[in-house]
Amino acid sequence: YFITFEGPEGSGKTTLISKVHTQLSKSHEVIMTREPGGIGISEMIREILLAEGNDMDGRTEALLFAASRRQHLIEKVIPSLEAGKIVLCDRFIDSSIAYQGYARGIGTEAVMQINRFAIEDHMPDLTLYLKLDPEIGLDRISSNQRDHNRLDAEKIDFHKSVVSGYNELSENYPDRIKIIDASQSPEKVMKDAIEIINQYLNQ
Ligand code: C5P
Ligand code: MG
Repeated sequence: YFITFEGPEGSGKTTLISKVHTQLSKSHEVIMTREPGGIGISEMIREILLAEGNDMDGRTEALLFAASRRQHLIEKVIPSLEAGKIVLCDRFIDSSIAYQGYARGIGTEAVMQINRFAIEDHMPDLTLYLKLDPEIGLDRISSNQRDHNRLDAEKIDFHKSVVSGYNELSENYPDRIKIIDASQSPEKVMKDAIEIINQYLNQ
């Protein structure tokens, strides 16, 4: 099973995915990975995307995310799925629709097209969307030690648009995308996530 984690800045994806990984590892073969990155070429593309001081064209950005996604999919995600493992991935195609399609203004159809080319028919089986008011998310990341990058520097309106994108996606794909209220305590977020995943695995 291919399970992806989505949501705006500061919604707790990275924390949640590692807790879910620890929990599921007790009973399943499971790997945890991230986008953009996860393997050599894709981590190099990530560095280009995040490098400060560059003014990157929006379509170039969308293409680089898609290129990074494809290489990571081919080298790591598909082989792991074929080996029968559960793959937990921090971000995937919905990030591109929300960030480049909506917030960056490239358009969802254009971003879908290049991503269809990149992933062919390898859509996630299940997506956990950590829904959070972007203002709360930005407060959380500014108060922790996390390194800042080019893409973090976007203004609040950009992040609001990212969240509208995710909201629309979750309305359009309710069977795949399950919403978790990320303003809850980390313990409750984890409990909700495990419930959704177990329900999916046991169906
Ligand atoms: O999730 P993570 O913090 O690793 O993402 C790295 C950066 O890339 C973040 O600043 C995020 O906002 C940005 N990003 C983006 N478009 C995507 C995926 C991530 O702008 N499709
Ligand atoms: Mg993160």
